Amino acid sequence: MLPAFVWAAGTAWRWEWNVSDSGTLRRALVVGAGTMGNGIAQVLAISGIEVSLVDIREEFTARGMATVQKNLGRQVRRGTLTEDEAKAAFARIRPGTGLAPAADAEFVIEAILENEARKIELYAALEPLLPSGTVLATNTSSISITRLGARSGRADRFIGMHFMNPVPVMELVEVIRGIDTSDATFDTTMGLSRRLGKTPCAVNDAPGFVSNRVLMPLINEAAFALMEGVGAAGDIDQIMRLGMRHPMGPLALADLIGLDVVLDILRVLQDGFGDPRYRPCPLIVRLVDGGRLGRKSGRGFYDYRDPGG
Ligand code: NAD
Repeated sequence: MLPAFVWAAGTAWRWEWNVSDSGTLRRALVVGAGTMGNGIAQVLAISGIEVSLVDIREEFTARGMATVQKNLGRQVRRGTLTEDEAKAAFARIRPGTGLAPAADAEFVIEAILENEARKIELYAALEPLLPSGTVLATNTSSISITRLGARSGRADRFIGMHFMNPVPVMELVEVIRGIDTSDATFDTTMGLSRRLGKTPCAVNDAPGFVSNRVLMPLINEAAFALMEGVGAAGDIDQIMRLGMRHPMGPLALADLIGLDVVLDILRVLQDGFGDPRYRPCPLIVRLVDGGRLGRKSGRGFYDYRDPGG
């Protein structure tokens, strides 16, 4: 695509690549087929977009596809999709390893682990493959969009598109602009979020954005209360569900998010603000060290293993 000369508000004239229109977008790439990536692939496919879903190992994409199939089945049982719509959506997702599908992707969503160095490494591998007009969005929960964008090789076509877990169910997408994100990139991302049936909410770039800056201290404090013996896990969660009308207690929510992800986000908040109030609870550190990552590994604050299995 050819670059266009545009006026960026508050700055000088600069070159900007023509970014795909969200309404006509047909092909997307999702990198990372874990908790978030497979859900993102599912909602893209339901909205009629052909999706490549890639991970580093085939077994990880296979697991992602199995989750998509299970969740589409649930939507059929609930009556939010017909059987034919679910089958068509599943058929629109092409699982794989390697980044070859980047070559014809009109929109890329990166959903790999919450590690800045690994994300930057991935962007360096993606950049030579991507068409010039492709937007690269990251689903990071907390890392600076400006910093990631500056290292992406396409700062004007880079943006934060923060989906909530579980993606097929949750309505919000937090959209975060970096310092160089173009208006066209922002508009396309807002439009795509709406096309997926989500409500986008634009916020400024700061550690944890709004969602995790507010949520993570709650989860961390619940973990401290558990560690200090103030209450049992079930009681702490019940107090927040019945007393505050939270649909899910903070410890159960942490298990759903993944305790490794929670720990990574707390560390980003701690580093970003330099404030001891974000110090990760040692119990979370211990559980992660022991491989108890929550639902995805079978154990976290709670035990999800099949007693018969
Ligand atoms: P996850 O651990 O479930 O999945 C990450 C996947 O990325 C794994 O399957 C891993 O193999 C894969 N991966 C790692 N490096 C890769 C690479 N170079 N190329 C391709 N695949 C690679 O993690 P998740 O919970 O899905 O989180 C993904 C991102 O989404 C993180 O940035 C996280 O902060 C963010 N996020 C998570 C949640 C949540 O509730 N879990 C919510 C919102 C945002």
